[in-house]
Amino acid sequence: MTEQHAASANLTANLTANLTADPMSGADPKLDKVNWAKSVPFFLIHLTPLLAFLIPFKWEYVAVMVASYYVRMFFVTAGYHRYFSHRAYQTSRFFQFILAFGAEMSTQKGVLWWASHHRHHHRESDQPDDVHSPTLRGFWWSQVGWILSSRYDEPRWKDIKDFARFPELVWLNKYYYVPPLLGMGAMYLIGGWGWALWGGLISQVLLWHGTFTINSLSHVFGKRRYLTTDTSRNNFFLALITCGEGWHNNHHYHQNTANQGWFWWEVDLSYYVLRLLSLFGIVWKLKHPEEQTKYRHLSYTAAQKRKLKLQSVFGQGALLADPTTEEEPSVLPLAAPAPAALLKRS
Ligand SMILES: [Zn+2]
Ligand SMILES: [Zn+2]
Repeated sequence: MTEQHAASANLTANLTANLTADPMSGADPKLDKVNWAKSVPFFLIHLTPLLAFLIPFKWEYVAVMVASYYVRMFFVTAGYHRYFSHRAYQTSRFFQFILAFGAEMSTQKGVLWWASHHRHHHRESDQPDDVHSPTLRGFWWSQVGWILSSRYDEPRWKDIKDFARFPELVWLNKYYYVPPLLGMGAMYLIGGWGWALWGGLISQVLLWHGTFTINSLSHVFGKRRYLTTDTSRNNFFLALITCGEGWHNNHHYHQNTANQGWFWWEVDLSYYVLRLLSLFGIVWKLKHPEEQTKYRHLSYTAAQKRKLKLQSVFGQGALLADPTTEEEPSVLPLAAPAPAALLKRS
């Protein structure tokens, strides 16, 4: 066998090994199917807002709905996302549990499931393996389809070894329906059916779709400030409804920062709360982007600026794949390390 043949055989073996090693690879969309039977509760909850016609309206219910939405959105973004997926700050084991419990009250499956799939998203974003890329798989699949598919039910265990060593998190991950059920029960005990409906179920539907926009719309609609290899965008409206997650281009450019709004006008509610918690010593070592990272876009060439401008036009995501345009120069390795590298450091 010549050296060239051996190399090519090696490459094929590696590719096959990679494909079989990851049964959840998004590279073969033909395997992706919504499990309609298992998704019945998800669709039924979408019908529950109709029950509002049976309960006399009170403004108090709207206030409870909004509060329940934003409190849980904080736990989704500060817990599931910035802490468990990206380790953007540190905290005690006790508050880590509170973060996981609060995040799971959003009914978005287990904490290890959420964080491990999200780490995979950053590694493969908008590449064939990305299971919820709207540019490759469409809006419906990236918004809800992949979550309702049985194919991605399991956490990606090898991506979450750092937190899987805590038995209380493994327990919470397995019994992920406990926190939302307790939350619903508490709503009912405090405010009766009105609170359970508005603060529990209606708020839940809004919370699901508010969160899911970051997988779908924030890769389609908004402005791109930094050159990244994906289609992530910055979007003020999405930042408002997701406590700061709408600054998704910032985030994909440098993923392990506690703040995702990097400039004063980039509203980031979760970060403000984290700052407050840090004053009381509940969280600490919040990571921030370096100045040269934040202002990197100012030194882009005219061609790079033109490319970003074109990419910021709605529906122009395909341009990102154009290999003929100028890429971010590799002399300044400013992009965040991959999750695997983060694990090694810790
Ligand atoms: Zn993304
Ligand atoms: Zn992220």
